[in-house]
This record gives sequence, structure tokens and C-alpha cells, in this order.
Amino acid sequence: MKEIYNFCAGPAMLPKPVMALAQAEFLNWNHTGCSVMELSHRGPEFMALAAKAEQDLRDILDIPDNYKVLFCHGGGRGQFSAVPQNLLTKTGKADYIVTGSWSKSAVSEAKKYGDIHVLEPVVEIQGEKQVLPSSQWDLSTDADYVHYCPNETVDGIEIFELPDTGEVPLVADMSSTILSRPIDVSKFGLIYAGAQKNIGPSGLTIVIVREDLLGRAMPTVPEIFNYQTLANNDSMFNTPPTYAWYLASLVFSWLKELGGLTAMEARNRNKANRLYDYIEQSDFYTSKIATANRSTMNVPFYLRDESLNTAFLQQAKAAGLLALKGHRSVGGMRASIYNAMPIEGVDALIEFMQLFAEQHHR
Ligand code: PMP
Repeated sequence: MKEIYNFCAGPAMLPKPVMALAQAEFLNWNHTGCSVMELSHRGPEFMALAAKAEQDLRDILDIPDNYKVLFCHGGGRGQFSAVPQNLLTKTGKADYIVTGSWSKSAVSEAKKYGDIHVLEPVVEIQGEKQVLPSSQWDLSTDADYVHYCPNETVDGIEIFELPDTGEVPLVADMSSTILSRPIDVSKFGLIYAGAQKNIGPSGLTIVIVREDLLGRAMPTVPEIFNYQTLANNDSMFNTPPTYAWYLASLVFSWLKELGGLTAMEARNRNKANRLYDYIEQSDFYTSKIATANRSTMNVPFYLRDESLNTAFLQQAKAAGLLALKGHRSVGGMRASIYNAMPIEGVDALIEFMQLFAEQHHR
């Protein structure tokens, strides 16, 4: 079978060696005679797996001891709701930085719970979107937290700087950037991420929360979203998504073997640079994001002649390059090139784009 490369934004492709290992031990995991998904989450075998997965993630991200790691349900959108219900309880005010469609959705949910101050630091200069530096964000001093999305999956806008929010806890929706490069966890109050891009399959959501932010939830928060309850129960307050947790554990081992986040960042930079460099020098394709904020994980691009979009997608699919259609809200194309996308996939895409441009140049 010819090599297929899946550029889907999420659920996204998983590393081949991880899939192969999961397949090999699907029916008989760890000599138990059972599939891992059939085991009790409270049994010693699964508890050991869960503990190792957490430790591996702590090692990979260098998570300080005063942070809890929670393995939750509910996805990124679940956290749009859980974050305010857990944290918006001192002044009841929060700053939300809107840089694209996901941070905008987070605002709609947070508004149900308190006084949300929305900041929109995206400007458009000569047709390219750019995020103003955080030093120019008009942050409140009395907010319970500042929420932002360092990588907007739909828009392809990434914020590379670490915003300085002083004493106000910084909350980040890292759904589409977590594990793509090293980060200083100690600078964040809370980080959350749906698993279905760089962690594993959908169904699992990771929350990394500084301990002093626990225990201040609204009394009305559903217990399953109460961080303190989840922490007290080692994320096993109810039945967790055990199979997704298991696959995440394999992804963490794979990442460690490859050299962790420093190695991953170099791989990812190389992939993204090749693609952006090609788009930049082409007069057939274009990007609408300024260089300083071009996402390493999600690369939106446009054909200058949009009437060729359908042909592009059809021919790409025939060439084994899947899911390149941009999100309907922004149109065009989008190549999601998460950790699991090999450089060969990016090269195959560039080769196809070159060929398509040559065929359709007028
Ligand atoms: N935040 C970001 C940055 C996302 O990319 C997504 C999903 N693509 C979400 C939140 C929503 O995640 P979920 O579908 O897991 O609720």
C-alpha cells in the first residue's frame, strides 16, 4: 500500500510505532490475558500504568512537584467550562485573550460564570494577521486569571512568547501545541489540552494545575469537573478513559525515546520551516499569518486562485495526502503537522504542491 499522510487537525495521526505496539498487545496486555481496555482502572496493573504515564509526562515537561496532573474527560470544551467553575471565585473577573476561534469559544463559556474582560490583540498588516506583544495587552490587575490559547488550531496563529501576567495566574489552552516544544510549566497556573493532537486519541484531557489553585471551586461545579476532587482521587473519581490513557502512555514513551521535547522541537521547526519557506517563495500559494505568529503545528495556506480548491483537494487525496481542507470558518487549506507527522509527509506535501502549481499555472 502506498504511504498515506493524514494532515487532520484532530483526531490526528499517531506515531506508527505506537500504533504497531498497541496492535501487537491489543488482545493480551502485559501477560494479563486481557486487553488493557478490559481491566479495572483500580486494579494494580492499570494503576501501575497510570502512575508511569504520569511520571513520564512529568519528566517530559519537567513539571514541578507543586503541580497536579489530572487525566480527565470532557475535552478542550469541557475545560472551557471547568476552568471558570474552578478558578473564577475570588474577584469573579478574568481576562481572556482572543486570538482565534478557540479562544473565542472559551469566552462564550466563561461568560456564564463571571465578569469576562475580552482582549483582542490580533492586528492585520498588509493582509497578514499578527498578535501584538503581551507587553501591549491591557491586562487587569485584579483578575482571577488570564486565559489564552498559545496555538489557535483553526487560524494557525501561534504565540511564541510567554506572556508575563505578574501575580495573576496564567491559564493556557494548549490543546494543539502541548508536547511540541519545551515550556516552562512553573510560569503557568494551569495548562489544559485535549489529547487528540499530540497526546493520544480523543476522550482524554490533560490538566496540569498548580496546587494553590485547588480547593476554590464554585459549590455548583459538577463534581467530575472539580479539580480538587479529581486530584484527591488520582483522576479516578469515576471511570477514566482507560484505553486513551494507555495510548497516551505509549506516546509518552515514544517521545522520551526520541529525545524528549528538545528533539521534538527541532523536528517540528524543520518541518514547519520547509513548508512555510515553500509557500513564501511561491506565487501560487499564500499564507495569511505574519512570520512571527505562524503556527508550527497547523499551517493554513491558500491557493491564490481559489477556484482550484476542489481540484487541489481531490488530487491531494488521490496522492495519499488526506484532510487538507481548511476549517470552514477560514476556508483554504490547512496542513496539521503534529509530532507524529514525519518529515517525509511534509516533503510529500511540498512535492505535490509544486506539481499542482506547475500543472495549473496560467
Ligand atoms: N481548544 C483548541 C485549541 C482546540 O484545537 C480544540 C479542538 N480542536 C478545542 C479547544 C476543543 O477541544 P474538544 O473538541 O476536545 O472539546
